Amino acid sequence: MKVSIGIDGVDSQHGGCTTHALYRLFKRLVEKGYVRSLLDYPYLVRLNPAVPRKTRGNGAVAIGVELAVDRLDPLVEELSGLLVEYVAQVRGDLSKACAAVVPYGLTERLREVYTKALTDFVHLDYLGSIIKSLGDSVVLPLGMNWGCVGALAALGWSRSVCTYELLVYRDPSYVGSPRRAPDVGALAELDSSREYETFCSYDPESGRITATPGGPDPVLLGIRGLDPDKLVEALRVLAIPEPIEGWMVFKTNQASGEHMIPRASLELKPLRTGCLAGVVREVAVRPGGDVVLSVSDGLGELRAAVFKETGLTRYARLLVAGDVVRLCGSVKLWDDDRPTLHVELLEVVDLEERYLRRNPRCPKCGSRMESAGRGKGYRCPKCGFRAADLRPEVSRLPRGIDVGVYLPGCGSVKHLGIPMPLSGLDLGCREGSLRAVSDFYRIDVVGVV
Ligand SMILES: [Zn+2]
Repeated sequence: MKVSIGIDGVDSQHGGCTTHALYRLFKRLVEKGYVRSLLDYPYLVRLNPAVPRKTRGNGAVAIGVELAVDRLDPLVEELSGLLVEYVAQVRGDLSKACAAVVPYGLTERLREVYTKALTDFVHLDYLGSIIKSLGDSVVLPLGMNWGCVGALAALGWSRSVCTYELLVYRDPSYVGSPRRAPDVGALAELDSSREYETFCSYDPESGRITATPGGPDPVLLGIRGLDPDKLVEALRVLAIPEPIEGWMVFKTNQASGEHMIPRASLELKPLRTGCLAGVVREVAVRPGGDVVLSVSDGLGELRAAVFKETGLTRYARLLVAGDVVRLCGSVKLWDDDRPTLHVELLEVVDLEERYLRRNPRCPKCGSRMESAGRGKGYRCPKCGFRAADLRPEVSRLPRGIDVGVYLPGCGSVKHLGIPMPLSGLDLGCREGSLRAVSDFYRIDVVGVV
């Protein structure tokens, strides 16, 4: 029997991580002999960062396995037992924790949930109607709640574009103490060598490590990359200075920009994500450096904010009325009750040409001429030469910005956003050498210490 399991909402502000719960679950299912094979890498699916009712990191997970047993009951029992235990451990809220078990391959029908949870706000009655239409094929061992939005969305992820992340989990007795992770030098070397196709392990601009979370998170280190096998090789060359519980490679929609769907200005309502293409009407640089733009797409005008932290203000401040742009991000409602697009990607599509118009130089002595009065041509202030037929000098002003796509750096990019190092890359979705479970202690997807 082949099934997929989606999970969300099992972490809390006190700790835990949905990926870690999945790691524990998979390990236990394998140890108990329930799993015959793993059908794909586990998925780590990031969802709309603009919705308020989200889990920390707005990520949900899913996994597809072939069961060694021919009944669902023992799996469902093990699954709910483990998650209840996990939520209690991290002092989470079980009424927000959801697990969904569906037949492997049903994911096509959940695609719509994924797209909506990625780009919009999902109402529970909408989700309820989808679940109802799927009938007995969806099992929710912990019941129906807000966590089911993420759990079902993770099951419906399209996987047309993907990156990978290898997550290393701390030994439980170390969680809460300062992290001893590989140093900046090692991580900088890892990214810059390109040998392992990793990205954003550190931020070259600030010189800071970006591969480690803070606080009580069970994750010691997350290495992002394009090739799952190379991530495992990278882990082998990085010395991990503290004991670990284990690690797992996730296939993810991180850095895909998949939430940046085209939308009209009128569709860009609060809590939605998307891109607006249009003409810049106004540019205002605020004290502090943030840039606020007004952009019209012919149907309406939308305010867009480019924040200094993104590093995109150095380009946004050079925009002028008349420029054609495409701005992507998520929409939030500001205190003045107007929706505002928080920009994560700035594309300059066309630049307004700007000219400098000056009086001509004197043909006799070369001095800059003056106007001799309306309709009377020019007069030279130095030698007195007059000319009625000279034309003003016109030169094109450099804009200081080119047509192209501008992206945030590793230090400020959000999970779903495309970071600068991946600019222009066609990501696709590579397949790694995923092995059968019989091999898994030895290699690849999960490392058990
Ligand atoms: Zn002159």
